[in-house]
Amino acid sequence: MKAAILEEINGPLTVGEVGLTDLTFGQVLVKVLVSGICGAQLQEIAGNKGNAKFVPHLLGHEGAGIVEDTGVGVTKVKKGDKVIMHWRKGDGIESDFPSYLFKDKVIKSGKVTTFSEYTIVSENRITPVPHDTPNELCALLGCGLSTALGTINNEAEVKFGESIMIIGAGGLGLNLVRAATAASAYPIISVDIYDHKKELAESLGAHLFINSQTQNIVEELDKKFNIKEVDVIIDTSGNKQAIENTIPLLSGIGRYIMVGQPKPGETVGLLNANHLFGGEGKMIKATQGGKFSPSKDIPRYVKLHKAGILNIDHIITHRFKLEQINEAIDLVRKGQASRILIEM
Ligand SMILES: [Zn+2]
Repeated sequence: MKAAILEEINGPLTVGEVGLTDLTFGQVLVKVLVSGICGAQLQEIAGNKGNAKFVPHLLGHEGAGIVEDTGVGVTKVKKGDKVIMHWRKGDGIESDFPSYLFKDKVIKSGKVTTFSEYTIVSENRITPVPHDTPNELCALLGCGLSTALGTINNEAEVKFGESIMIIGAGGLGLNLVRAATAASAYPIISVDIYDHKKELAESLGAHLFINSQTQNIVEELDKKFNIKEVDVIIDTSGNKQAIENTIPLLSGIGRYIMVGQPKPGETVGLLNANHLFGGEGKMIKATQGGKFSPSKDIPRYVKLHKAGILNIDHIITHRFKLEQINEAIDLVRKGQASRILIEM
């Protein structure tokens, strides 16, 4: 079967032939239908996730597929089931690391990978869904959209009509805009450094788009909504300057959620830190995947989508074949896409 393999840190992925091995305890063989791409894969390609010693290895951690076979002990799914693959742990067995054959050698992979025609996944990294669940939704619920919904719901605990500002209009930032609309936040402000994100952010539900390179955030907030502060700020950029500039904009009930990670070793300063004691006492919090709990959350989200309440229109902006994966990765790197789908 074909798979995209990271052979060399910072190199392009090799799309080549990879062999499957026998399933062990708690493993599931899945025929992959679609996969998403997210920032985590860029980090892995750059060797920033402690993965450099494991190359060559496979990549991808959000996708949809059909169960082909199950290893000993697996009870959650059976052959023919449609499943979402996700990086966060759900119910079920945590299997050993899957093995594949590449260039006559055995290579190991993470407990879930999705950039291949077939994949071996740990039982706790898949969740069955009804067959009529759209592939696009499945890929989004494997990571980006679920992280966004969890960040809004579990971490920021956004209330109806609270104002929210989302820094960064990349894949996750745009999912957060959509998730904020589901929570009836108002206004929803999207901030980025590229003007071409404006249209996309607004089509997903942002009430205002600010280019922080060319516009002053405070002036724009005042001009459009007559406000100087925001109740919830979510940073997806991890950019030190962006974080420092926006923490002082928290309202008295403000919650600041860090999703993007600042560079290791970097210091982020708190300007005029005493303002954090204003109002009810403000909060700064770093989130781990928005506390997304696949076994509990995926069925709720699928139901919301089916009822027409969770709209995913416009989130996926590009589609590629597996052979074009390097093109797709370049697009994510340049920040020119919302979410990209790889179709197997
Ligand atoms: Zn992801």
